[in-house]
Amino acid sequence: MVSSRNWIGGEWITPAAGESIVINPSNMKEEVGVLHLSDQSHVIQAEQAARKAFEAWSHLTGAARAEHLYKLAAALESKLAEVANLASLEMGKPITEMRGEVMRGVNLLRYYAAEGVRANGVVIPSSEPNVLQHTKKVPLGVVGIITPWNFPVAIPIWKIAPALICGNTVIWKPAEFASLTATKLIEVFAEAGLPSGVINLVIGKGSQIGDVLLEQIPLDAVSFTGSTSIGTHIAQLCAKRNIKYQTEMGGKNAAIVLKDADLEKTVPLIVSGAFRSAGQKCTATSRIIVESGIYDSFTKALGTAVSQIKLAPALDPAAYLGPVASASQYKTVMSYVDMAQKQADIIAQGPAVAEKNEGYYIQPIVAAGLDAGHPLIQEEVFGPVAALLQASDFEEAIALCNQSIFGLSASLFTQNLSYAHRFLDEAQAGMVRVNQETAGVEYQSPFGGMKLSSSHSREQGQAALDFYTELKTCAIRYF
Ligand code: NAD
Repeated sequence: MVSSRNWIGGEWITPAAGESIVINPSNMKEEVGVLHLSDQSHVIQAEQAARKAFEAWSHLTGAARAEHLYKLAAALESKLAEVANLASLEMGKPITEMRGEVMRGVNLLRYYAAEGVRANGVVIPSSEPNVLQHTKKVPLGVVGIITPWNFPVAIPIWKIAPALICGNTVIWKPAEFASLTATKLIEVFAEAGLPSGVINLVIGKGSQIGDVLLEQIPLDAVSFTGSTSIGTHIAQLCAKRNIKYQTEMGGKNAAIVLKDADLEKTVPLIVSGAFRSAGQKCTATSRIIVESGIYDSFTKALGTAVSQIKLAPALDPAAYLGPVASASQYKTVMSYVDMAQKQADIIAQGPAVAEKNEGYYIQPIVAAGLDAGHPLIQEEVFGPVAALLQASDFEEAIALCNQSIFGLSASLFTQNLSYAHRFLDEAQAGMVRVNQETAGVEYQSPFGGMKLSSSHSREQGQAALDFYTELKTCAIRYF
């Protein structure tokens, strides 16, 4: 059985502040590995190792750092199947999706490696003679990276890769439910020859080591992805210390279907947005807003499509969705399923899984007939539960879409160019997409949300380079 371990200053350490068995969410009888938890001393050691490594790493040329990132990409690609397999076993994401996620990680490493030789400033004409005035981006120092379990490979890499290419060193605290995958990922990186201390992996519970990480060690920045409640707490701690922070948080993403939408193409995208990864994506479609003129034909087509998707163990290559990730996820999501069964009309339902009692399987459902203020319409469920609302026209649909504390992603399905443009202008979300599902934003584009979904900076693409650097304005006079 595999075990989680810390990697600090180039040394593997098995922490002993707690131990538990990791269960396969697709089959609770199967033990996948052992989780070992850190105490505060590991966080302190990790900061010391990262601080020491910063000196040499930040002084490498961008081209030299790029060479390291290309090696990490090649190493990860060569271990793609192994990493994907372990992640599917640990947190239940279907293997086909998980392979795609690892490949996204490889592509992110290559994308950010290439930044090592790109311009990192601009020349600004001076008003004075013989003065060269320009900007340059400099690294921040030691960055704390805190990640969730739902994208156990892609999210850590979309933070670590830009942090490293910009010259920072990293302390990475993954979610407990993705710690075996995190250990595997760092094993792959360590074998690829990444210098000691450049990345330091500390496995542990946020409630046990979060305070020391965020309040006691001298961190220079924090990048967090996770729930809005933890994210806003972290933002407050960072603001108090005046260190740079970025929090990517929850969503309640809407897909609007107008009466001119092409149903044959629209329905599969809605189903995929809502139920791939068992709805455990921050960008999952959790509200479907349908224009009255197409309501009957849309709900009929949706009902048929949902009834045909396959709920199966994560390692089944035909699984459309697998179980939810853990016992706590199962409990939370089932409380919303119960609420839907008691208070809503279930207008679409997926098939049951044969081994239902063996894993954390939840039949996907679409609930309708609810008020716009109902918890199923307003709260993030983070499971295979979507809610459907009816709107009389585009204006009402946009108003419903924007009636949310979240603002991560939103979609519109239409063939009308005017509505498409108005939607891009009027929808209050960081990612607005026409005739595309709410999930699936490409890695070379900025990723992030409005309102309580984000602290308003962006990840991925070129935007990440702004977060992981500080801008210096330079001026030099020559006599
Ligand atoms: P979570 O907030 O429970 O945990 C996220 C991370 O924070 C974990 O590593 C956890 O251990 C850590 N943590 C918890 N308490 C902490 C503390 N006091 N101090 C420091 N760290 C602490 O979230 P989760 O259940 O792992 O992930 C699901 C959530 O993540 C959902 O709300 C989802 O929408 C969100 N998410 C957002 C995005 C995005 O980009 N916006 C992407 C994926 C997931």
